[in-house]
Amino acid sequence: MTARAGTGKEAHEPGLKPRLGVSTCLLGENVRYDGADKSDPLLLRAFGNHVEWVPVCPEVECGMTVPRDPMHLADDPDSPLLVTTATGEDQTGRMQTWIRSRLDELAREDLWGFVLKSRSPSCGRSAVPVLNSTGALAGEAAGLFAAAVAGRFPLLPVADERSLHDDSVWDNFIERLFCLKRYRDSMRPKGSRESLIAFHAAHELQLMAHDQDVLREMGELVAQSKELPLDELSARYEELLRTAMELVATPAQNADVLLHALGHLERYLSPGERQDALEVIEEHRGGRASLTVPTKLLGRQIQKYHVEHLAAQSCFTAHPLELKLRSRP
Ligand code: SF4
Repeated sequence: MTARAGTGKEAHEPGLKPRLGVSTCLLGENVRYDGADKSDPLLLRAFGNHVEWVPVCPEVECGMTVPRDPMHLADDPDSPLLVTTATGEDQTGRMQTWIRSRLDELAREDLWGFVLKSRSPSCGRSAVPVLNSTGALAGEAAGLFAAAVAGRFPLLPVADERSLHDDSVWDNFIERLFCLKRYRDSMRPKGSRESLIAFHAAHELQLMAHDQDVLREMGELVAQSKELPLDELSARYEELLRTAMELVATPAQNADVLLHALGHLERYLSPGERQDALEVIEEHRGGRASLTVPTKLLGRQIQKYHVEHLAAQSCFTAHPLELKLRSRP
Protein backbone atom coordinates (compact mmCIF):
# COMPACT_ATOMS: atom_id res chain seq x y z
CA MET A 1 0.00 0.00 0.00
CA THR A 2 1.09 3.55 -0.45
CA ALA A 3 2.55 5.37 2.46
CA ARG A 4 2.27 8.87 3.70
CA ALA A 5 4.92 10.97 5.29
CA GLY A 6 2.64 11.41 8.23
CA THR A 7 4.20 10.66 11.55
CA GLY A 8 7.75 11.90 11.13
CA LYS A 9 8.18 15.62 10.92
CA GLU A 10 11.11 15.65 8.50
CA ALA A 11 9.35 13.28 6.12
CA HIS A 12 6.50 15.80 5.73
CA GLU A 13 8.65 18.57 4.49
CA PRO A 14 8.18 19.09 0.78
CA GLY A 15 11.41 18.84 -1.13
CA LEU A 16 13.11 16.61 1.41
CA LYS A 17 15.12 13.99 -0.39
CA PRO A 18 15.56 10.46 0.92
CA ARG A 19 19.21 9.85 1.74
CA LEU A 20 20.28 6.51 0.37
CA GLY A 21 23.54 4.71 0.90
CA VAL A 22 24.76 3.21 -2.35
CA SER A 23 27.63 1.08 -3.62
CA THR A 24 29.81 3.68 -5.31
CA CYS A 25 30.31 1.67 -8.51
CA LEU A 26 26.55 1.78 -9.21
CA LEU A 27 26.85 5.55 -9.60
CA GLY A 28 29.34 5.14 -12.44
CA GLU A 29 32.54 5.63 -10.45
CA ASN A 30 35.50 3.58 -11.66
CA VAL A 31 36.18 1.83 -8.37
CA ARG A 32 35.81 -1.83 -9.34
CA TYR A 33 38.75 -4.21 -9.03
CA ASP A 34 39.29 -3.96 -12.80
CA GLY A 35 39.03 -0.16 -12.87
CA ALA A 36 35.53 -0.26 -14.34
CA ASP A 37 32.21 0.92 -12.96
CA LYS A 38 28.85 -0.82 -12.69
CA SER A 39 26.62 2.10 -13.52
CA ASP A 40 22.98 1.06 -13.66
CA PRO A 41 21.20 3.52 -15.97
CA LEU A 42 17.74 2.10 -15.26
CA LEU A 43 18.23 2.53 -11.54
CA LEU A 44 19.71 6.01 -11.84
CA ARG A 45 16.90 7.11 -14.11
CA ALA A 46 14.27 5.68 -11.76
CA PHE A 47 15.65 7.56 -8.74
CA GLY A 48 16.48 10.60 -10.85
CA ASN A 49 17.48 13.55 -8.74
CA HIS A 50 14.86 12.71 -6.12
CA VAL A 51 17.30 11.10 -3.72
CA GLU A 52 20.55 12.14 -2.12
CA TRP A 53 23.14 9.42 -2.57
CA VAL A 54 25.68 8.59 0.10
CA PRO A 55 28.27 6.56 -1.84
CA VAL A 56 30.30 3.86 -0.12
CA CYS A 57 32.93 1.62 -1.70
CA PRO A 58 34.13 -0.73 1.04
CA GLU A 59 37.11 -2.05 -0.91
CA VAL A 60 38.52 1.32 -1.93
CA GLU A 61 37.65 2.99 1.37
CA CYS A 62 39.43 0.30 3.37
CA GLY A 63 42.59 1.15 1.45
CA MET A 64 42.66 -1.17 -1.53
CA THR A 65 43.86 0.13 -4.88
CA VAL A 66 42.16 0.47 -8.25
CA PRO A 67 42.83 -1.79 -10.03
CA ARG A 68 43.32 -4.58 -7.48
CA ASP A 69 43.26 -8.35 -7.34
CA PRO A 70 39.77 -9.76 -7.60
CA MET A 71 38.43 -11.28 -4.38
CA HIS A 72 35.84 -13.81 -3.32
CA LEU A 73 34.25 -15.15 -0.16
CA ALA A 74 35.88 -18.28 1.21
CA ASP A 75 35.70 -20.98 3.85
CA ASP A 76 32.62 -21.09 6.13
CA PRO A 77 29.41 -19.66 4.59
CA ASP A 78 28.24 -18.77 8.13
CA SER A 79 31.33 -16.70 8.75
CA PRO A 80 33.05 -16.19 5.39
CA LEU A 81 36.49 -14.76 4.80
CA LEU A 82 37.33 -12.20 2.13
CA VAL A 83 40.32 -13.46 0.17
CA THR A 84 42.14 -12.50 -3.03
CA THR A 85 41.35 -15.06 -5.69
CA ALA A 86 44.81 -15.42 -7.21
CA THR A 87 46.92 -15.50 -4.03
CA GLY A 88 44.48 -16.49 -1.28
CA GLU A 89 45.51 -13.48 0.80
CA ASP A 90 43.06 -12.95 3.67
CA GLN A 91 41.64 -9.39 3.63
CA THR A 92 38.95 -10.03 6.24
CA GLY A 93 40.61 -8.27 9.18
CA ARG A 94 41.37 -5.16 7.16
CA MET A 95 37.81 -4.99 5.87
CA GLN A 96 36.20 -5.64 9.26
CA THR A 97 38.29 -2.95 10.95
CA TRP A 98 37.17 -0.42 8.32
CA ILE A 99 33.55 -1.60 8.54
CA ARG A 100 33.41 -0.96 12.28
CA SER A 101 34.43 2.67 11.96
CA ARG A 102 32.46 3.34 8.75
CA LEU A 103 29.24 2.01 10.28
CA ASP A 104 29.68 4.45 13.14
CA GLU A 105 29.88 7.26 10.58
CA LEU A 106 26.89 5.95 8.64
CA ALA A 107 24.85 5.83 11.84
CA ARG A 108 25.11 9.63 11.87
CA GLU A 109 24.07 10.00 8.20
CA ASP A 110 20.33 9.61 8.77
CA LEU A 111 20.03 7.17 5.89
CA TRP A 112 16.63 6.00 4.71
CA GLY A 113 17.92 2.87 3.02
CA PHE A 114 20.72 1.28 1.02
CA VAL A 115 21.15 0.14 -2.58
CA LEU A 116 23.99 -2.35 -2.85
CA LYS A 117 25.83 -3.99 -5.74
CA SER A 118 24.68 -7.57 -6.15
CA ARG A 119 27.05 -10.56 -6.00
CA SER A 120 30.03 -8.57 -4.72
CA PRO A 121 32.00 -10.25 -1.88
CA SER A 122 31.82 -6.90 -0.08
CA CYS A 123 28.48 -5.39 -1.13
CA GLY A 124 26.27 -8.32 -2.23
CA ARG A 125 23.35 -8.53 0.14
CA SER A 126 22.72 -12.26 -0.45
CA ALA A 127 23.64 -15.26 -2.59
CA VAL A 128 27.32 -14.36 -2.97
CA PRO A 129 29.18 -17.62 -3.71
CA VAL A 130 31.46 -18.88 -0.93
CA LEU A 131 34.24 -21.16 -2.17
CA ASN A 132 36.15 -23.83 -0.25
CA SER A 133 39.91 -24.38 -0.43
CA THR A 134 39.60 -26.37 -3.66
CA GLY A 135 37.58 -23.61 -5.33
CA ALA A 136 34.33 -25.57 -5.14
CA LEU A 137 31.12 -23.92 -4.02
CA ALA A 138 30.71 -24.27 -0.26
CA GLY A 139 27.52 -22.19 0.00
CA GLU A 140 26.28 -18.64 -0.27
CA ALA A 141 26.41 -15.62 2.01
CA ALA A 142 26.07 -11.87 2.09
CA GLY A 143 29.16 -9.78 1.34
CA LEU A 144 30.99 -8.61 4.45
CA PHE A 145 29.85 -5.00 4.29
CA ALA A 146 26.26 -5.89 3.36
CA ALA A 147 26.04 -8.33 6.28
CA ALA A 148 27.37 -5.69 8.66
CA VAL A 149 24.85 -3.07 7.40
CA ALA A 150 21.97 -5.51 7.92
CA GLY A 151 23.21 -6.34 11.42
CA ARG A 152 23.80 -2.77 12.54
CA PHE A 153 20.73 -1.16 10.91
CA PRO A 154 18.00 -3.80 10.97
CA LEU A 155 15.25 -1.25 10.23
CA LEU A 156 16.94 0.09 7.13
CA PRO A 157 15.46 -1.13 3.84
CA VAL A 158 18.28 -2.68 1.82
CA ALA A 159 18.06 -3.86 -1.78
CA ASP A 160 20.45 -4.70 -4.57
CA GLU A 161 20.29 -3.15 -7.99
CA ARG A 162 19.23 -6.37 -9.70
CA SER A 163 16.20 -6.98 -7.52
CA LEU A 164 15.06 -3.37 -7.98
CA HIS A 165 14.50 -4.04 -11.68
CA ASP A 166 11.45 -6.04 -10.62
CA ASP A 167 8.48 -3.66 -10.40
CA SER A 168 6.93 -5.19 -7.30
CA VAL A 169 10.28 -5.22 -5.46
CA TRP A 170 10.86 -1.61 -6.51
CA ASP A 171 7.44 -0.58 -5.30
CA ASN A 172 7.90 -2.34 -2.00
CA PHE A 173 11.36 -0.85 -1.50
CA ILE A 174 10.08 2.71 -1.97
CA GLU A 175 7.14 2.05 0.33
CA ARG A 176 9.42 0.62 3.02
CA LEU A 177 11.78 3.60 2.72
CA PHE A 178 9.02 6.02 3.60
CA CYS A 179 7.24 3.84 6.15
CA LEU A 180 10.28 2.82 8.16
CA LYS A 181 11.73 6.32 8.05
CA ARG A 182 8.45 7.63 9.42
CA TYR A 183 8.54 5.09 12.19
CA ARG A 184 12.12 5.93 13.15
CA ASP A 185 11.28 9.64 13.13
CA SER A 186 8.18 9.07 15.23
CA MET A 187 10.32 7.37 17.88
CA ARG A 188 12.95 10.13 17.95
CA PRO A 189 14.53 11.70 19.85
CA LYS A 190 12.94 9.74 22.62
CA GLY A 191 10.06 7.51 21.68
CA SER A 192 6.96 7.07 23.78
CA ARG A 193 4.16 4.56 23.98
CA GLU A 194 1.82 7.22 22.67
CA SER A 195 3.87 7.85 19.53
CA LEU A 196 4.18 4.12 18.86
CA ILE A 197 0.43 3.63 19.32
CA ALA A 198 -0.32 6.60 17.04
CA PHE A 199 2.01 5.24 14.37
CA HIS A 200 0.35 1.84 14.58
CA ALA A 201 -3.16 3.27 14.34
CA ALA A 202 -2.25 5.31 11.24
CA HIS A 203 -0.70 2.31 9.47
CA GLU A 204 -3.19 -0.46 10.11
CA LEU A 205 -4.54 -0.61 6.56
CA GLN A 206 -1.08 -0.41 5.04
CA LEU A 207 0.15 -3.24 7.26
CA MET A 208 -2.99 -5.25 6.56
CA ALA A 209 -2.08 -5.31 2.87
CA HIS A 210 1.34 -6.73 3.67
CA ASP A 211 0.82 -9.35 6.33
CA GLN A 212 -2.39 -9.84 8.26
CA ASP A 213 -0.87 -12.41 10.65
CA VAL A 214 1.91 -10.06 11.66
CA LEU A 215 -0.57 -7.19 11.92
CA ARG A 216 -2.58 -9.30 14.39
CA GLU A 217 0.57 -9.85 16.48
CA MET A 218 1.32 -6.13 16.34
CA GLY A 219 -2.21 -5.36 17.51
CA GLU A 220 -1.83 -7.75 20.46
CA LEU A 221 1.49 -6.16 21.35
CA VAL A 222 0.06 -2.65 21.20
CA ALA A 223 -2.90 -3.76 23.34
CA GLN A 224 -0.52 -4.76 26.14
CA SER A 225 1.81 -1.81 25.63
CA LYS A 226 1.20 -0.38 29.10
CA GLU A 227 2.42 -3.59 30.71
CA LEU A 228 5.78 -3.61 28.92
CA PRO A 229 8.88 -1.50 29.45
CA LEU A 230 9.19 0.93 26.52
CA ASP A 231 12.51 -0.57 25.36
CA GLU A 232 11.03 -4.03 25.11
CA LEU A 233 7.84 -2.75 23.49
CA SER A 234 9.67 -0.79 20.83
CA ALA A 235 12.18 -3.59 20.09
CA ARG A 236 9.38 -6.11 19.61
CA TYR A 237 7.30 -3.66 17.57
CA GLU A 238 10.22 -2.80 15.29
CA GLU A 239 10.91 -6.46 14.63
CA LEU A 240 7.27 -7.07 13.68
CA LEU A 241 7.10 -3.92 11.55
CA ARG A 242 10.20 -4.93 9.63
CA THR A 243 8.83 -8.45 9.13
CA ALA A 244 5.47 -7.17 7.89
CA MET A 245 6.92 -4.61 5.50
CA GLU A 246 9.40 -7.06 4.00
CA LEU A 247 6.54 -9.07 2.57
CA VAL A 248 5.52 -7.60 -0.76
CA ALA A 249 1.83 -6.64 -0.86
CA THR A 250 0.29 -8.20 -3.97
CA PRO A 251 -2.29 -6.35 -6.08
CA ALA A 252 -4.91 -8.81 -4.78
CA GLN A 253 -4.01 -8.01 -1.15
CA ASN A 254 -4.03 -4.28 -1.87
CA ALA A 255 -7.40 -4.59 -3.58
CA ASP A 256 -8.87 -6.52 -0.63
CA VAL A 257 -7.74 -3.82 1.79
CA LEU A 258 -9.13 -1.07 -0.45
CA LEU A 259 -12.45 -2.92 -0.58
CA HIS A 260 -12.34 -3.07 3.21
CA ALA A 261 -11.85 0.71 3.27
CA LEU A 262 -14.59 1.17 0.71
CA GLY A 263 -16.90 -0.75 3.05
CA HIS A 264 -16.42 2.04 5.62
CA LEU A 265 -16.80 4.74 3.00
CA GLU A 266 -19.67 3.61 0.82
CA ARG A 267 -22.51 4.96 2.93
CA TYR A 268 -21.26 8.45 2.05
CA LEU A 269 -20.89 7.78 -1.67
CA SER A 270 -23.33 8.17 -4.53
CA PRO A 271 -23.91 4.98 -6.58
CA GLY A 272 -21.72 6.44 -9.34
CA GLU A 273 -18.86 7.24 -6.95
CA ARG A 274 -19.05 3.77 -5.45
CA GLN A 275 -18.96 2.23 -8.92
CA ASP A 276 -15.95 4.35 -9.92
CA ALA A 277 -14.11 3.21 -6.81
CA LEU A 278 -14.96 -0.43 -7.40
CA GLU A 279 -13.78 -0.25 -10.98
CA VAL A 280 -10.37 1.20 -10.21
CA ILE A 281 -9.83 -1.22 -7.34
CA GLU A 282 -10.55 -4.14 -9.65
CA GLU A 283 -8.34 -2.60 -12.35
CA HIS A 284 -5.51 -2.61 -9.84
CA ARG A 285 -6.27 -6.21 -8.84
CA GLY A 286 -6.11 -7.21 -12.50
CA GLY A 287 -2.80 -5.40 -13.07
CA ARG A 288 -4.30 -2.72 -15.32
CA ALA A 289 -3.79 0.19 -12.92
CA SER A 290 -1.04 1.03 -10.47
CA LEU A 291 -1.93 1.19 -6.81
CA THR A 292 -1.80 4.95 -6.82
CA VAL A 293 -4.91 5.11 -9.05
CA PRO A 294 -7.43 3.62 -6.56
CA THR A 295 -5.71 5.08 -3.50
CA LYS A 296 -5.83 8.58 -4.99
CA LEU A 297 -9.49 8.20 -5.92
CA LEU A 298 -10.49 6.86 -2.50
CA GLY A 299 -8.31 9.51 -0.88
CA ARG A 300 -10.24 12.24 -2.68
CA GLN A 301 -13.56 10.70 -1.64
CA ILE A 302 -12.38 10.41 1.97
CA GLN A 303 -11.43 14.10 1.96
CA LYS A 304 -14.67 15.13 0.28
CA TYR A 305 -16.82 13.40 2.92
CA HIS A 306 -14.48 14.10 5.86
CA VAL A 307 -14.22 10.46 6.90
CA GLU A 308 -11.67 11.14 9.56
CA HIS A 309 -10.77 7.64 10.70
CA LEU A 310 -9.85 6.77 7.10
CA ALA A 311 -8.20 10.13 6.41
CA ALA A 312 -5.68 9.29 9.12
CA GLN A 313 -4.63 6.09 7.35
CA SER A 314 -1.17 6.26 5.83
CA CYS A 315 -2.23 4.59 2.59
CA PHE A 316 -4.43 7.53 1.59
CA THR A 317 -2.03 10.36 2.23
CA ALA A 318 1.10 9.40 0.38
CA HIS A 319 3.93 11.89 0.23
CA PRO A 320 4.11 13.32 -3.34
CA LEU A 321 7.71 12.22 -3.62
CA GLU A 322 6.80 8.68 -2.72
CA LEU A 323 4.14 8.65 -5.43
CA LYS A 324 6.58 10.08 -7.93
CA LEU A 325 9.21 7.46 -7.13
CA ARG A 326 6.72 4.62 -7.19
CA SER A 327 5.63 5.43 -10.71
CA ARG A 328 9.17 5.29 -12.05
CA PRO A 329 9.78 6.21 -15.68
S1 SF4 B 1 30.74 -3.70 -5.38
FE1 SF4 B 1 31.15 -2.50 -3.55
S2 SF4 B 1 33.30 -2.88 -3.07
FE2 SF4 B 1 32.97 -3.52 -5.19
S3 SF4 B 1 33.50 -1.74 -6.39
FE3 SF4 B 1 31.31 -1.64 -6.05
S4 SF4 B 1 31.13 -0.37 -4.23
FE4 SF4 B 1 33.24 -1.03 -4.33
